[in-house]
Amino acid sequence: MTPDLQALHTAFDRQHRASRDQAAASAPVRQALLDSLRGLLIDGRAALVRAISDDFGGRSQAETDILEIVPLVTAIGHTRSRLTRWMRDAPRRVDLSLQPGRAWVRHEPLGVVGVIAPWNYPLFLTLGPTIDALAAGNRVLIKPSEASPAFAALLARLVAERFDADRLTVVPGDVAVSQALSGLPLDHLVFTGSTNVGRHILRAAADHLTPVTLELGGKSPAIVAPDFAIDRAARSIAFGRYLNAGQTCVAPDYALVPAASARHFADSVLSAAFQRYRTIEGNGDYSNIIDARHHRRLVDAIEEARRGGAEILTHPSPPPTGRRIAPTVVLGAPDDCTLMREEIFGPVLPVKPYATLDSAMAFVRARPRPLALYCFADGAAMQRRILDSATSGGVTINSTLLHVAQHSLPFGGIGASGMGAYHGHDGFLRFSHARAVHKAGPITMFERLGPPWGATARLTMR
Ligand code: NAD
Repeated sequence: MTPDLQALHTAFDRQHRASRDQAAASAPVRQALLDSLRGLLIDGRAALVRAISDDFGGRSQAETDILEIVPLVTAIGHTRSRLTRWMRDAPRRVDLSLQPGRAWVRHEPLGVVGVIAPWNYPLFLTLGPTIDALAAGNRVLIKPSEASPAFAALLARLVAERFDADRLTVVPGDVAVSQALSGLPLDHLVFTGSTNVGRHILRAAADHLTPVTLELGGKSPAIVAPDFAIDRAARSIAFGRYLNAGQTCVAPDYALVPAASARHFADSVLSAAFQRYRTIEGNGDYSNIIDARHHRRLVDAIEEARRGGAEILTHPSPPPTGRRIAPTVVLGAPDDCTLMREEIFGPVLPVKPYATLDSAMAFVRARPRPLALYCFADGAAMQRRILDSATSGGVTINSTLLHVAQHSLPFGGIGASGMGAYHGHDGFLRFSHARAVHKAGPITMFERLGPPWGATARLTMR
């Protein structure tokens, strides 16, 4: 067994034993854990930003700050201030036939929660579920992506300095460690990553009946309704598409636009992008593609669309060097090309013109259910029509990404984009066992009724 796998098994055994032998942590203990996590983020901020940028070979430092550290710190504040209320027993009504008595739900920790994360927002997607799982009183084992080695080593050290290993541990390592973690008898496993790997996770978890939350990918559409202001939609879609150079699970993956406005929309997206990123080469606000394999994948997919007759809009020419791809818009990509079949996960936006809104919504419905859907429409009736005609994990109306940043909304996919949701109270509930308790009164009428049962059935149906 490699040292990484050995470390994983040791960490799991400690956490598992502690979860069975020790009482559930009180609210003040959980709040202190959240405070430690906040301290880690604030004191480790500069080092974390640097490590993540090193793993990308150049990632916008402001984006790590604003899209990862700030939402984690505010999520901790949100959860911490509501935790005592969330932990209270929740009374339930007692059926007449079971009275006298009291009934309530206790929210108890599940035990050991595993977290397997991707590289694109390595901090937000490791510590996000961790906040909710710790708040619910669990032990947490984090496995960061092997594509984020500098970040993983740093997070492991920062966590070891502040947390008991039987409460929170980071186990860095290669894919073999992720595979081994998914095969352990965990009490819950949160996986964030691709739909393909999600299938392996579900199979591995089945052996121990480990419940899973799968946060997967997919193609999230942006639908621009007829008559909506094209430039406004283009600005918002450009914002959501090109953050982190498009390597965002909830980024708008393609845009459905009225045919008459498609060209104007494509030009407008590109000009909005280049207003934000005036240069690409050397621009500290624009991120690299994570590695050479993904860079190649994207370049090939653009080329395939071009060969298929699509128009590729981008600049500058010649293209940036290294692992940078400038914001790109693709007009008229064939439906069967890679860009229209697979999640893009890069700074490329296909624009698909539609003849009628119904045909656009049918296009969305005919594909796997997406993680997010972006609806650009004026008026509640048109917005409802779009939401009613195709489902998705979450929705932002008239902008992009914002529903994910909302701590009071559940975050998760549906169908091929995932199962289970977390964030805020939904996360607390996701990582808690809702334990049903009935406390019988002194008479326990139900016991007295039988056997022999006699006329009881008739009585209890009344
Ligand atoms: P990935 O699926 O390749 O890897 C994610 C994690 O899975 C890594 O930590 C890796 O170690 C682990 N892994 C790989 N093979 C495994 C196996 N056989 N068994 C167990 N674990 C295994 O994804 P990625 O390339 O790191 O991230 C990109 C994908 O993640 C995109 O599809 C994106 O949409 C998705 N994503 C989803 C969300 C969300 O919240 N829904 C957020 C970010 C990214």
